[in-house]
Amino acid sequence: MDFRLTARQEQLRRSARALTDLISAYENDCEENNGLPPSAHEKIRDAVLDSGLQAVNMPAEWGGAGLTILEQAVVQAELGRLTGALWDMVWRPANALTHCTPEQRARYLEPVIRGERRDCYAVSEPGAGSDPQSLTTTATRTGGGWLLNGEKWFVTVGDHADFMIVLAAAGEERAPTLFLVDKDTPGVEMTRVPRWMHTFVYEHPEFTLTDVRVPDDAVLGGVGDGYDITRSWFTEERLMIAARTIGAAERALELARDWAVERRQFGSPIADFQLVQGMLADCAVDIAVNRAYTHQVAWEVDEGVADRKTLHAKAAIAKLAASEASGRVIDRCVQIFGGRGYDRSYPVERLYRELRVDRIWEGTSEIQRLIVAGELVKRGTGVLRMPSPAA
Ligand SMILES: Cc1cc2nc3c(=O)[nH]c(=O)nc-3n(C[C@H](O)[C@H](O)[C@H](O)COP(=O)(O)OP(=O)(O)OC[C@H]3O[C@@H](n4cnc5c(N)ncnc54)[C@H](O)[C@@H]3O)c2cc1C
Repeated sequence: MDFRLTARQEQLRRSARALTDLISAYENDCEENNGLPPSAHEKIRDAVLDSGLQAVNMPAEWGGAGLTILEQAVVQAELGRLTGALWDMVWRPANALTHCTPEQRARYLEPVIRGERRDCYAVSEPGAGSDPQSLTTTATRTGGGWLLNGEKWFVTVGDHADFMIVLAAAGEERAPTLFLVDKDTPGVEMTRVPRWMHTFVYEHPEFTLTDVRVPDDAVLGGVGDGYDITRSWFTEERLMIAARTIGAAERALELARDWAVERRQFGSPIADFQLVQGMLADCAVDIAVNRAYTHQVAWEVDEGVADRKTLHAKAAIAKLAASEASGRVIDRCVQIFGGRGYDRSYPVERLYRELRVDRIWEGTSEIQRLIVAGELVKRGTGVLRMPSPAA
């Protein structure tokens, strides 16, 4: 076993850190103004293209960075240091778009990869969250196409994106199907833009779809493939959430450690107090073990050494463990900062609000537990094993 980053991984990590440092100059502006002006979006888009880290999950022949899952995890851990969700400005198209036909790819995916268009993924509805099968958005056949009707909530980047990937129940058989819907299609309306606990550089608006007419070639993948394609997104996305939250937690611990060494009370640096030392040590433990496990599973995905279901469960373990551990880390770091930790101009305060959603989106912590338990009950404890040549 060799746990060192390869020269290429280290090079990618450095590029991602340099990009992160550059983008971090916009953090305060984003927090104070709940977003960034168009000029900042343009500058950051150019910086992303210069870094070569655009669309890290897409093949190089389509213009993406073509990184492995482990390489992506290394990059995401650096980007995860950013507050205001500025990491999301380093676009990573939904991997559902790899199911595009050549024509769809030229129209949707390749412009996204180039930073000219932006996708958003609309699955959740008022009545369909953890259980997407209860969706009520419908697609009804019309001559030469489909008519979409329904309501979509929590659509991340829905304000900024110019097209949506919409999950709908198609036809009388209610076949779960994804549709590519340009946002300017008549009948698409952004109805509400809620304010959230976190400050996020983009919004998560709600949409209604009223008699939205789309052609036959708006179907992404096949009719009925909607759940399978969406599920295949989860293994990768959950590992990236694990990586990002670990990066965020590491930044918080660096800040808290430095603060603890510098801040004096009762005539000593607070780092001399063992109760504070305990918090610092617990943070280090949470970060170290979760980084190692996330890297392990990312490596297993790349090497293809475990079957798809086992990897799905392992990614659920990584997401559950890392998002909960990072939540504990940031809570302690706020505590170490005392009153300043509650001030929005301090990154630890922002990370405290921002890391909370990682236990909710892309499947709540409870849903991750159900996935892990389901794997244990149905297939035994093999999910815990490291891959071996005999596997
Ligand atoms: C900021 C933000 C951005 C988001 N972005 C997107 C997006 O871009 N696209 C998109 O489609 N969705 C998005 N979502 C939606 C997100 O995926 C859902 O919020 C999440 O899946 C949970 O669904 P829900 O909110 O309806 O909660 P519910 O499913 O109603 O769950 C409520 C509670 O019940 C628990 N629960 C539910 N079922 C079970 C069960 N079987 N056993 C035990 N406990 C259970 C849950 O864990 C949770 O604690 C976003 C959400 C947020 C907050």
